[in-house]
This record gives sequence, structure tokens and C-alpha cells, in this order.
Amino acid sequence: MRKPIIAGNWKMNKTMNEAIVFANEVKGLVPGRSKVDTVICAPALFLDRLLAAVAGYDVSIGAQTMHFEDSGAFTGEISPAALKDLGVSYCIIGHSERREMFNETDESVHKKVLAAFRHHIKPIVCVGETLEQRERNETKGHVGSQVSKALQGLTEEQAKELIIAYEPIWAIGTGKSSTAEDANEVCGHIRQVIESSFSGNAAQSVKILYGGSVKPENIDDFLKQPDVDGALVGGASLDSRSFLRLLEAAANG
Ligand code: 13P
Repeated sequence: MRKPIIAGNWKMNKTMNEAIVFANEVKGLVPGRSKVDTVICAPALFLDRLLAAVAGYDVSIGAQTMHFEDSGAFTGEISPAALKDLGVSYCIIGHSERREMFNETDESVHKKVLAAFRHHIKPIVCVGETLEQRERNETKGHVGSQVSKALQGLTEEQAKELIIAYEPIWAIGTGKSSTAEDANEVCGHIRQVIESSFSGNAAQSVKILYGGSVKPENIDDFLKQPDVDGALVGGASLDSRSFLRLLEAAANG
């Protein structure tokens, strides 16, 4: 049995004050770490204060992106070494919004995955197809290729620690989620890719999340699927009550 993960991706939302109010509202109410891993991926500006706010509670804090170099002339970028030094334990890598709007490529995603492992930051590697790719029946080919490119050169032990988020681009922020069965089929395909690149053992250990219009009303359908180990949640992670409902569903599933 793989322990579920519910990761909120706040994207570019909230002010510092709103972030701290949220943390104070949820931190005493989250289910224990033995039942579900709770992660909040916040804008970089809030990470330090959020880490302090949830210290001692069963909540982990993640970043939404980082650079692959530790330091240097990269104006505006975020160093993985600095994230680790703060105490950040997760980082979303290759979110489709970064791929589509900020020139993130399979190659930079790959370098960032290696950098995350170098710093013992857990990478949440995002993959997913566009609507056109889905309609052309290219979903598995595209997602499989994104996964194998991101993971080149990892050891089997590293592969076992991976978290992959399958987020069909057409389902993000649109209110149109994939059916749970379709999501499970793609997550199962991702597991096969891991099996052929690494081992059956790695394929069974890797955590695969679904993301795209997940909300308290539909989370149970996704969590019931054998190859879906949790969710990466945008909009529904912004409200503390809705985030807590998602956590409860994962803890009781
Ligand atoms: P929504 O849950 O708002 O559709 O966003 C999904 C997402 O992109 C999480 O990374």
C-alpha cells in the first residue's frame, strides 16, 4: 500500500498574510503523517514564514519551481541549495504552466530532477497532454516520453522516491476533470514506463498523483483507482475547508 499524498499547488495566489492565516487554520486539523502526506506548494516569497508557521505539525512545504544550478548569474531564479537550506522538502518540477508559458523543456525538467535529488528535495514531476494530443490518441506516447526524458540517469533507489503528477492540460483550472478511469489508465501506463526503465519494484514504489480540477466532490473517485496515489490540487487547495476535506478523504480512503 502506498501512502497517499495531497499536495496543494497555490500557483500565484495569496498574500503573505493570507498564506499564514491558511496555515494556522489547517495545521492543527490535518490527518497524521501516518495516514496522508500533506504538502503545500506555495510561492517562493512565503516559504520561510510558512515553514515556521507549520513547524511541529504534519504539514510539509514545497516550492513550485527551482533552477537546476545551485548558484550563479540567473536573475530572478530560485536556487535548489537555498530551498534545501530553508527546509523545503518538495518541489514541483515541469508544471504544464511553466512548460507552456516559461519555456520549460524536457531537458530543463530532467536537469531539475537531478538537482532535486542532489539536494534531497522530493521532486513532484508534472506530465500531461494537451486536448489536441488526447484527440489524436497520443496521450500515452506523449506522457511516456515526458516521463522517460525526465528520469534519465536516475538510480533505481531514486526512482522509488519519485512523485509524478499526471495533469492533463485540458483539465487544469477548467472544471473539466478526466474520468477517474481514464486517469488511472494513464497513471498505469506511467508505472509501466518506470518498470521498463528501472524495475517492477520501482514501479510499485513510485507515487503517481492525478491533477486537474480535483475537488472534494470528486476526489474519492480518483483515490479509489489502484494506480492513483493522491492529487496535486490547484483551485480547491486555496480554501482551508476544501483543502481539509481533500485530506480527510485521502486519510479515510
Ligand atoms: P486545478 O486543480 O485548479 O485544476 O489545477 C491543477 C493544477 O494545475 C495543480 O498543479
